[in-house]
Amino acid sequence: MDFSNRLKNLPTQFFATLVQKVTTAIAEGRDVINLGQGNPDQPTPEHIVKALQEAATNPQTHKYSPFRGTNELKQAAVNFYKREYNVDVDPNTEVAIMFGTKIGLVELPLAMMNENELMLLPDPGYPDYLSGVGLASVKYDTMPLLAKNNFLPDYTALTDEQKQAAKLMYLNYPNNPTGATATKEFFEETVALAKESNIAVVHDFAYGGIGFDDVKPVSFLQIAGAKEVGVEMYTLSKTYNMAGWRVGFAVGNPKMIEAINLIQDHLFVSLFPAVQAAAAAALNEDQQCVDELVSLYEGRRNALIDACTAIGWHVQAPKGSFFAWLPVAEGYTSEEFADLLLDKADVAVAAGNGFGTYGEGYVRVGLLVNEERLKEAVDRIAKLNLF
Ligand code: PLP
Repeated sequence: MDFSNRLKNLPTQFFATLVQKVTTAIAEGRDVINLGQGNPDQPTPEHIVKALQEAATNPQTHKYSPFRGTNELKQAAVNFYKREYNVDVDPNTEVAIMFGTKIGLVELPLAMMNENELMLLPDPGYPDYLSGVGLASVKYDTMPLLAKNNFLPDYTALTDEQKQAAKLMYLNYPNNPTGATATKEFFEETVALAKESNIAVVHDFAYGGIGFDDVKPVSFLQIAGAKEVGVEMYTLSKTYNMAGWRVGFAVGNPKMIEAINLIQDHLFVSLFPAVQAAAAAALNEDQQCVDELVSLYEGRRNALIDACTAIGWHVQAPKGSFFAWLPVAEGYTSEEFADLLLDKADVAVAAGNGFGTYGEGYVRVGLLVNEERLKEAVDRIAKLNLF
């Protein structure tokens, strides 16, 4: 027996090694502060869990879902976009329900591209974008996200050949891993480029609910003409601490939505209807839980950044997401620095080069432990006298 070439094509999981190292250290009895991963630490708000419990007792939810998701959840996505972003979305043609957004991000190259066609990806970027590249056997070029450009791609650096060849482009703000946010002007440039060069845009809005300093992250769909060129992926994993529930949706361009729905018609029946009912409740009901979550992350961000600054580590505060993107100490690569912190300080961070070539020189720190643990992590790092 052998694996298909398609499977062999898939990238190796860079962070599997980190997970292994952390697991081994913990098994040895070491008190590791794990800031390396991106799994929300808070529970799902109670009213959402209750909505699931109630829906699960209704036998109607025990049947197959409609293939393309329930009308209730699609309407909730529409209500959410109207209320949060003042964007009008048609529930019948402009919403696709998905088992989390990872699946949509992997499906789109399969659904919209032919082998060897070109897509454009941010570097550094969310590693799972490369799973879609591998499965669909497409090519990709990267768009560097540099500190001097506020971690936004510089479209003037794209060549005419790249603009002509590219079929699909992925963007992600608030950004994993850099914590940067986008501006309306940047999204306007994106729409102009997409129209001029006929590139379909996917804006991964995974951290859309998490913006700091009272600045609400901009939705790509708030930009005039965005729906003509792209879709936005929204997950409930982060905004409502529902990562384990696997629920998200895409909204926007009807052709792209149809591409997702068509491929999903062949791959899945949609989500457990009770999960869809609870997701609708999350989107429709009181959003105080989201405000509280953002305050919690902002408090942690401030604790981390203040502690780093106090030891002479010159770092930038992230504007959104639940990650901080910190430069490594002089003389180290990202991997050497991450290894040092784990080996000598029992602090696990993700080496920046795992997110792409332009991640070299940084480590990603998750704001997913409490303020005391974050401060303790910096105290332990301080003892290494690196800064
Ligand atoms: N996009 C980004 C940038 C992420 O960080 C994640 C999860 O970590 C996802 C998408 C996928 O989220 P989900 O599949 O839970 O919707």
